[in-house]
Amino acid sequence: MQNVTILGSTGSIGVSTLDVIGRHPEKYAVFALTAHKQVDKLFEQCLQFKPQFAVLGSPEAAGQLRQRLEMTGLTGTNVLHGESALSEVASDAGCQIVMAAIVGAAGLKPTLAAAKAGKKVLLANKEALVMSGQIFMDTIAASGSALLPIDSEHNAVFQCLPAEKRAYDPDFGVTKVLLTASGGPFLKRDVSTLESVTPEEAVAHPNWVMGRKISVDSATMMNKGLEVIEAHWLFGAPADQIEVVIHPQSVIHSMVSYSDGSVLAQLGNPDMRTPIAYGLGYPERIASGVAPLDLIKVGQLQFHEADFTRFPCLDLAYAALRTGGTAPAILNAANEVAVEAFLQRKIGFRDIDRLIASALEKVESGSADTLESVLDADRRAREFTVSRIS
Ligand code: NAD
Ligand code: MG
Repeated sequence: MQNVTILGSTGSIGVSTLDVIGRHPEKYAVFALTAHKQVDKLFEQCLQFKPQFAVLGSPEAAGQLRQRLEMTGLTGTNVLHGESALSEVASDAGCQIVMAAIVGAAGLKPTLAAAKAGKKVLLANKEALVMSGQIFMDTIAASGSALLPIDSEHNAVFQCLPAEKRAYDPDFGVTKVLLTASGGPFLKRDVSTLESVTPEEAVAHPNWVMGRKISVDSATMMNKGLEVIEAHWLFGAPADQIEVVIHPQSVIHSMVSYSDGSVLAQLGNPDMRTPIAYGLGYPERIASGVAPLDLIKVGQLQFHEADFTRFPCLDLAYAALRTGGTAPAILNAANEVAVEAFLQRKIGFRDIDRLIASALEKVESGSADTLESVLDADRRAREFTVSRIS
């Protein structure tokens, strides 16, 4: 029996993770569940999975949950709150697996805590890796943690890389990492109308149901940009060897090319329970609840070149990766602030890429050797972007 902590259990990835775990009660128990504000949803999850710990963002929210659990006679769950409690449940000796599914920079510290403590880390929170790739990968190497990518593209690449070494290594004949991208809701929309798209249009992804932030990231294709940086750190691939291919059906989740001309791909229905089950079960395969892929029904697989003029965020992410140091942390912070402002209708859709470009230009970047320097760059980029918006 393995105990699992789910950081961000009330989100889209968190809910899918609990769905997979619920199919294997003989294999997995829930150790801790965490949410930021969603007391109702976390309460329901506690009733069903009876974790040892539940964590919320504020003392008020934690108090509400504690009271509701007591009223139902459920006293086995300890309710905690605050940032340090997240790191505590992620590193507690009582759990073996940590699903890192908090959205954004807020997930960085608890994810690092899990890595430091030698947990098997299932990484969905790509922003943590974008911000502090070197520190994170060094921490994983030092503790001997197993790191399993959950982002569907990186999970596919992991599966297509040589089993002896899941890395970009020309000695093993690996020549390229090919990340597929659906192109999001605006792949075909007239570029001149992008200025005026609404949050509702931006979060309506054609193939995947996801949280709001990543849905907007998919519409700007910053999601793919963050994934290029993520692939660089996970697999050690240089920027020039990571290529983005538009594939509107989202059936091929990504590919790896080899020196003999082979291209290996991983296919499946667009459902995050597949990579989640792969990560949980690794190196075994376990049932995920995902329907088998019906290729006859899919009928056609299409591929196009990525258009950097339509999607400037993709270009900005490659530029930040090439600059290195804290530039990706600055890119990520400006993006988080801009996306939130867009969702609150304070700025237009195209302002997102303009704000990120100006943060990359104006906010000073430097070495990303320490967590302090990364968090400092993150803070300065947020302040800069907030001031530009107001
Ligand atoms: P979501 O918005 O649905 O859920 C986010 C979770 O994080 C919630 O449980 C929320 O309570 C928690 N949270 C938010 N802010 C917090 C804070 N400040 N402190 C503590 N907890 C906080 O997001 P999601 O779509 O599940 O995505 C989660 C992560 O997984 C993101 O990094 C995303 O990029 C990545 N990811 C998601 C998908 C997907 O299909 N949804 C696919 C690949 C990668
Ligand atoms: Mg992805």
